[in-house]
Amino acid sequence: MNIFKHTPWPSRVNWFTWLVAVLLLGGLLTCAAILFQQLRQSENDQIDRYLDSIAQHIETDLHGTAGQQASVQARMAMRLAFDGPFDRAAWAADAARLIEAHPYYDVLAVLDADYRVRWLAGGEQAAIAEGRPFPLSVEAIGRLAEIGPEMVSIALEPLQTASGQPAILFMTPVIADDEISNWLAAVMVVPDSVKAMLTGFYLRDVILDGSFAGVDFIISEGAVGQQRSEFARQLEFPLNGGRSSLSFNVALKSSTAEQIRTALPATVLVLGSILAILMVASVLLGLAATRQARYLAGANISLKHEIRDRQLAEQELAFLLTHDSLTGLPNRQGMLRQLEQSIEELIPGRRLAVLFIDLDQFKDVNETLGHHLGDELLRLIPDRLQAELDDPDVIGRLGGDEYLVSLQRKDAARIERLAVNLLKSLERPFQIEEHQLFVTASIGIAYLDAASPSPGELIQNADAALFRAKQLGRNQFALFVPEMFAEVEYRLNLSRDIRRALDEGRFKLAYQPIVDLESLEIRGVEALLRWPHEDGYFVPPQDFIRVAEETGMVHRLSQYALAQAVSDLAAWHAQSDDPPFLAVNISGVQFRETDFVRDLSLLLHHHRISPGCVHLEITEDVLIENLSLHHDVLKQLDDIGTPIVVDDFGVGYSSLAYIKNFPVSTIKIDQGFIRGLGHDADDRAITRTICDLSRELSLLTVAEGIEQMDQLELLRAFGCNLGQGYLFMRASSAEAITAVLNGEVPWRDLAGRNQDEAEEISLATRKNGPQRWV
Ligand code: C2E
Ligand code: MG
Ligand code: MG
Repeated sequence: MNIFKHTPWPSRVNWFTWLVAVLLLGGLLTCAAILFQQLRQSENDQIDRYLDSIAQHIETDLHGTAGQQASVQARMAMRLAFDGPFDRAAWAADAARLIEAHPYYDVLAVLDADYRVRWLAGGEQAAIAEGRPFPLSVEAIGRLAEIGPEMVSIALEPLQTASGQPAILFMTPVIADDEISNWLAAVMVVPDSVKAMLTGFYLRDVILDGSFAGVDFIISEGAVGQQRSEFARQLEFPLNGGRSSLSFNVALKSSTAEQIRTALPATVLVLGSILAILMVASVLLGLAATRQARYLAGANISLKHEIRDRQLAEQELAFLLTHDSLTGLPNRQGMLRQLEQSIEELIPGRRLAVLFIDLDQFKDVNETLGHHLGDELLRLIPDRLQAELDDPDVIGRLGGDEYLVSLQRKDAARIERLAVNLLKSLERPFQIEEHQLFVTASIGIAYLDAASPSPGELIQNADAALFRAKQLGRNQFALFVPEMFAEVEYRLNLSRDIRRALDEGRFKLAYQPIVDLESLEIRGVEALLRWPHEDGYFVPPQDFIRVAEETGMVHRLSQYALAQAVSDLAAWHAQSDDPPFLAVNISGVQFRETDFVRDLSLLLHHHRISPGCVHLEITEDVLIENLSLHHDVLKQLDDIGTPIVVDDFGVGYSSLAYIKNFPVSTIKIDQGFIRGLGHDADDRAITRTICDLSRELSLLTVAEGIEQMDQLELLRAFGCNLGQGYLFMRASSAEAITAVLNGEVPWRDLAGRNQDEAEEISLATRKNGPQRWV
């Protein structure tokens, strides 16, 4: 699952956030700008104050120096008044000193009371010459007329020097005897005088322009190339009673202004802007981070859910992998794990065992009653078994009708007793819906020891022991012994080889005559499979038939046997007026095939053989097992007239009462009883009883494995009808049977022979018997 599918990545901040961010940025930038403005303003104020102080200095200096010059002129006037208008030389020296000290004096002149120039010092004014009236305007004369007898300089109208420079005229009355006797006239060149008067260092910081009488002049220029700043002051000095004025423009130099200014406002602006941008960016990032954190938290939760789901799925999968779906019990994998744990935790002194339990003939339940009931039975079995087990014991299902129990007990005896109890617990019928089912099981037991040291080997060896239990007749347990290894291997090899032998047509049929014990006439032949193995030995039929049953190959094998036997029988029918019947062994697996009766009928029909000529030999246990399940098959066979022979009678249930319930025509007494006839009273008694009861039930009796004459005699005495065995003839080829049918009867000499003679013949038959390849 992809979590990114569920929670989209917050790649963009929404419009509202943008709006807030823009407003915030605007606000912060405005604050920075205001701060910048205020700092700038305060700097401007500082510059203004500095300029004001410079202007004040200029004013003070001008006033001060102008006042000094006024008093200089007043003192000169006083000296004139004291000396009288006669000491020209003294005045001239006085005037020369003054001009020398203050070169801005363009003209110094002593005037008579009527303003005529008496003495003159300084500038060459065309208009000013000794003896001539001093050039005064009418207005100026009017003003002078108003002045009282006080020796105070007054500034009068502006003038222009000969060189065209603006100048100002000062007139100081010379008072003698309380009367104005003369006038001291002083013409001062304004730019020069101002320059001289303003000597303060502050002039370095300003550019000072003056304007007087319509003429502009520069007083201090400062360094060349200096710029004026925007800071400037206008200074006005009214003269001549306000009729004229001397004005100055004081402008602060740009460099000075810049020196006063600090980098603070700009720094504040720049840093403020940067800070604002950073703040907004950090807010945006913060918001994005919050969203991302929320998203990650969401993603985390969904991831946790997913992890939990996966864990659950994994647990479920692990459970499914280790448990059987039908019963919920541990399966092979689960049992392997359980066993591993049990082995690890095994209490010293205890024995650990694995019981491999397999139901006998469970297939019949499935095939006749259906899988639904079969499954139900498989579910009920563990409950029965569980009731016999203790807490740490574990029960599992390997599949099909196979169960596994792992348990620990103090000794082997207890384990084996438990195995018996488990078998007994299954004997009680199972009620499933309206059916009452009887089941039995076989158990293979393997103990944890050197031969079975691991879980895998324990299970495998318990399986081998189970095979032995089945072989021994089912409904019992068998213990694993190491010799079974060879058996297991042998079975494995057989299962591999059977297929090849079938493909290569290596299986053959042999026939053993079945003889009328009274007349010693051949009545029938039993078809017996032979497998001459490519390694040069004959594989015993019990072995390969069991393996073929287990591996599912018995179907092909039986088909071959039946078809071959019926075909041979057809040949004998063709050549003989009194042909033998054919006895064919039918395995339980074959018997359960659905189309068995139909296929048999077709085969017989194909060879024009009457169904009565083919006797089907079924072992007693197969018959009993099929009592409830295959009654129909038996009925059908009976209907078509095929006789049923109970083979190997006496080793299993040994109950003729049972047999009575089947459409059985013949009882074949197991050769084990026949073997003991001569020397074992029990075998004799059993054989006689079977023969008697069989007769009572109108059944035919066949004795198999007759090897000796006395056995034949006894069987005759018991009224046994038919017999087969090495005494007569071994299972031999079809050709050998043909020869018998043609009169070459190997046991012909038996009739009328005594015991010893018969023995000899029997031995000869065994050694050189007519069979060609058995
Ligand atoms: P069975 O049907 O009881 O066959 C009789 C067995 O006794 C045969 O063994 C036969 O060779 C053997 N026998 C006959 N006379 C004597 C005797 O005088 N002394 C001794 N010791 N044995 C004698 P065989 O051929 O080894 O077959 C063994 C079993 O294999 C058969 O027992 C039968 O159950 C099964 N079998 C053989 N052929 C087939 C077959 O085509 N189909 C099926 N389903 N089973 C078969
Ligand atoms: Mg048989
Ligand atoms: Mg038999």
